[in-house]
Amino acid sequence: MAIDPVCGMTVEANSAAVQEEYQGTIWYFCCDSCRSKFLTDPATYTQPETMTDPVCCMEVSTDSSYHVEYEGKTYYFCCESCLGKFNIEPAHYIQIHYAEP
Ligand SMILES: [Zn+2]
Ligand SMILES: [Zn+2]
Repeated sequence: MAIDPVCGMTVEANSAAVQEEYQGTIWYFCCDSCRSKFLTDPATYTQPETMTDPVCCMEVSTDSSYHVEYEGKTYYFCCESCLGKFNIEPAHYIQIHYAEP
């Protein structure tokens, strides 16, 4: 399964799917129209994902250099100060922001 980066639909990632290689990654599309939109401006659709900084709740891109792995998960931060706070008491921040309902 793959996600159509244009419309967000799930697409069957097989050879029959509408696909396009961009920067070494194969992208799948639900239809030709999504594919041509993608080709007009691929960079818009291939932006890195964002995560929530568990300390200040800001949206941070996953290419942020402030990140830490804790119990098998990677957490991203907006700045060194947030990263530092998290390192002091990781469980506290995870409990607030990532607790299972
Ligand atoms: Zn689509
Ligand atoms: Zn922050």
